[in-house]
Amino acid sequence: MFSSRNRAPRQQRRSPTPSGGAAASNGGHSNPPSRPSSPSAPTSKPLYLCSPFADAALVKGNFKTIVVLPKYTDIMEWVAVNMFDFYTNLNEFYGVIAETCTKDTCPTMSGGPSLNYVWTHQGGAKTSLPAPTYIDYVMSSIQNLIDDENIFPTKSNTPFHPSFPATIRTVYRQLLRVFAHLYHAHYPQILHLRFEPHFNSLFAHFLAFGREYELLDTRDIKGEPNAAVGVGLLWERWKEKGILEG
Ligand SMILES: [Zn+2]
Repeated sequence: MFSSRNRAPRQQRRSPTPSGGAAASNGGHSNPPSRPSSPSAPTSKPLYLCSPFADAALVKGNFKTIVVLPKYTDIMEWVAVNMFDFYTNLNEFYGVIAETCTKDTCPTMSGGPSLNYVWTHQGGAKTSLPAPTYIDYVMSSIQNLIDDENIFPTKSNTPFHPSFPATIRTVYRQLLRVFAHLYHAHYPQILHLRFEPHFNSLFAHFLAFGREYELLDTRDIKGEPNAAVGVGLLWERWKEKGILEG
């Protein structure tokens, strides 16, 4: 289902996968479990925070295993590989629901009941954009970074630029916003298509990896004070259940 990088990879780019079978198969975000057919969802909180959806496909404690740096693997390589996979997988999910995310349905880049992300242009000017435009900007800018040999080198003798970690943190923050929008604005479609186990699995993996390598600021997950970011609540829930670490 999920593709790897679409151009010649470095020799070892795809190889640093944990050898444990369970960990490796989990990393693919596949094999959805069956889910109960008649959930009772209180109307007071969003569906994605309700059982059984909120914990679908998440096995306690297993995300640490798949984010840990494999032996003999360069940390930059490991981050680059995982970054590419998160981007590719999220892009595929968005592609599936994209026809329901329009300027009419999503006139702002919403990430919670009272949270709208604004796009910061080069130079610092901020603009409120419809979600599909915002997400297109995010995905295009990340694709451009991935295609830039100076930022994502594919030749094994090319070092990563010292600014790579800072670049990845920016990418991470943007991808988090796309996750937040999908959870907040498109969860009914995700449920309709029955891919919430895959989506939860991808997001939990993304959070675990981001925390492990300090790519994600907890303030970005929780949102600004009083912003009530839904994905922040999901993160808290998964921590409480021991699915993710703090
Ligand atoms: Zn939308």
